[in-house]
Amino acid sequence: MDYKYLSELLFPNVTETVEEIEAKYPPRNLPEGAKVTRFAPSPTGFVHFGGMYQAVVDYMLAHQSGGVFFLRIEDTDGKREITGAVEALINTLKYYGMDYDEGMMLENGVLVEKGDYGPYKQSERAGIYAVYAKKLVSEGKAYPCFTTEEEYEALQQVDKKAEIKNIDWHTAAAEKRAAMLAGREFTIEEVKEHLANGDPFVIRILADGDPEKKTKFTDQVKGALEVPENDEDFVLLKSDGIPTYHFAHAVDDHLMKTTHVIRGEDWLPSLPKHIQLFRYLGFKMPKYLHTAQILKTDENGNKKKISKRDMGAKMDDYTMLGYSTNVVWEYLLTLLNSNFEEWRMQNPTTPFREFPFSIKKMAVAGCLFDFDKLNDVAKNVVCRMTADEVYDNTLAWAKVYDPDFAKALESTPEMAKAALSIGRGGAKPRKDFGRWDEVKGYMGFFFDDYYKVVDEIPERFPKEDVRAALTKYIGIYDESDDQTAWFDKIKALAGELGYAPETKLWKKEPDRYKGHVGDVSMFLRIAVTGKASSPDMYEVMRILGRDKVVSRIKAYIDRM
Ligand code: GLU
Repeated sequence: MDYKYLSELLFPNVTETVEEIEAKYPPRNLPEGAKVTRFAPSPTGFVHFGGMYQAVVDYMLAHQSGGVFFLRIEDTDGKREITGAVEALINTLKYYGMDYDEGMMLENGVLVEKGDYGPYKQSERAGIYAVYAKKLVSEGKAYPCFTTEEEYEALQQVDKKAEIKNIDWHTAAAEKRAAMLAGREFTIEEVKEHLANGDPFVIRILADGDPEKKTKFTDQVKGALEVPENDEDFVLLKSDGIPTYHFAHAVDDHLMKTTHVIRGEDWLPSLPKHIQLFRYLGFKMPKYLHTAQILKTDENGNKKKISKRDMGAKMDDYTMLGYSTNVVWEYLLTLLNSNFEEWRMQNPTTPFREFPFSIKKMAVAGCLFDFDKLNDVAKNVVCRMTADEVYDNTLAWAKVYDPDFAKALESTPEMAKAALSIGRGGAKPRKDFGRWDEVKGYMGFFFDDYYKVVDEIPERFPKEDVRAALTKYIGIYDESDDQTAWFDKIKALAGELGYAPETKLWKKEPDRYKGHVGDVSMFLRIAVTGKASSPDMYEVMRILGRDKVVSRIKAYIDRM
């Protein structure tokens, strides 16, 4: 068959040559060893946690090697396209500080492209794919298939039918193969007739592989693999000219000079197709990192793939729950590199972006997601923030998710910041909370609107003791006392009421006392904060000021 002629028949409007396109995508001018990576999501309306996991790898590898990280929008599946989805995706990446150098971006709310290797949206690259498809057809490596979508679906169903009806698998596979091979048989006249009728067609690869034969392949994460050759005439271009993932991946990553493809391990089974396609197109294959699936433990303790409906599957979940973007990054790095936590302990204040990321330390198989660990990381990260950072982040979060609390924070920022600085700084900062939605519970009592007595003083303490302690305290509280003088007064007060002024005295002779100084402090704490646990009481009282401390204690006594 005259393949050249066939290609002209199928692509009469394609006049550009592969050489002309290649000339528009020159080698990137980058230092030796620089990695070029890309995040290539489909615009489904949200960023998946698994996507962010890959993007962190993209980011770290490119930026730590002086390379380039770009964003490509893979919108070839028209059925999945949602309006505003690209914008939402970019906003999420931006919010999470997932800074990339090239690709689709938002400028004042308008979608723009940045970089010389675009277009970065696959739906705008149809003309490019057609040129490569035409070339493959002209070389006899691809062919038109006029089988309708439905007929093809039916063909695909053969495997399933075999499974259900228990047909011998070999027979079913042979049937399918026969049908596929039959599709390869056509004459130029038949093609002309189809085209004259306006029949839709797809372009399929003409697979030359023998699945019995294996090719050696090294995945940067999984290590040495044996990959069977591909014998399936898979689709390159759909009838509307839109490429399949496989074809677009090969053409785009070649032209855009991607050096490392980081993608989910669910793409591993497609590797035979990609190896063949790169060979047919004469492209050098990039390096591949197939990342482990994110798993969770279900109610029965079994490990399961995290699903779209699970809390934590979408990045917006973390925003809503009030996790700092830094927390999410540090958690992802904890999952991605087995030595991250150790590094963090040794370098408590170094920005996480400076962590020396290593491909060798990446998880090879299923990586377990769990909220307990995330919360742990959250507390460790948030405790190292300044009060101002905590205030700003909490306020930003509350403006969206808890507007009343936002108003409270804004009403007295100085007090809020002072409250948030208690126990901060120093070698062992307090780890009271890790999420912005926990801040109200932690320090809301500073605001009269949120002050509420939620904890009870245990009944074993006689009411007269509590009343006496609180009443006397009003008389001795002096705002100018330093912390020692302040506590000495509480100790003295305890002694006066028959409570041990030191806990250790009480421990030695518990029968001699009604309780100890800690109990007296607890009376005060509950009266002033409404809660049995709170930040340091000396600081709390100092920030609230005498009037408020006294009025809360008085009100508490009145309600007793
Ligand atoms: N659009 C593909 C996906 O969302 C990208 C896979 C890849 O990174 O190559 O799965």
